[in-house]
Amino acid sequence: MTPLEKQRRHDNMAAIHSKDTKPELIVRKYLFARGFRYRLNHRRLPGHPDIVMRKYRTCIFVNGCFWHGHEGCKYFTMPKTNTEFWQKKITRNKERDQQQKARLAEMGWHCITLWECELKPKIRLQTLTALEYTLNGIFLKNHAKPYVLPQDHLDMAAESLHTTDESDR
Ligand SMILES: [Zn+2]
Repeated sequence: MTPLEKQRRHDNMAAIHSKDTKPELIVRKYLFARGFRYRLNHRRLPGHPDIVMRKYRTCIFVNGCFWHGHEGCKYFTMPKTNTEFWQKKITRNKERDQQQKARLAEMGWHCITLWECELKPKIRLQTLTALEYTLNGIFLKNHAKPYVLPQDHLDMAAESLHTTDESDR
């Protein structure tokens, strides 16, 4: 292994195994170590996405399970006191999340949401690997162009000329 490869491996491992790191930081460290480049909290995009990857036309939101009301998640339980207040607040947050994503989609951005609970040490690697896979899939889709063989193209043109000739007769 070259020193650079060693460092990269170390960075990957650190990103995967570090505990008590802010979820967003875990994602950023992993992506950077894997060679992805990004911008942070893009001010001009709706919702100020946590991570913006222009090359992939993708915004990544790293959501706290409580504040963004992660449905069916054990880290999202309504507080027993002031329940109505919290319910309203979280419902509003969720609505805003939806609106911002809809606007980003209209602008041609892909949106990926990662939840705090998906970045807990036990399932972190699985989540990040899936993220990388998704990003690569998006890149391929964005850059796929219908490919026409030059010869096919010429044949088609010749054929249509021929047809015209015949109908003229
Ligand atoms: Zn969750």
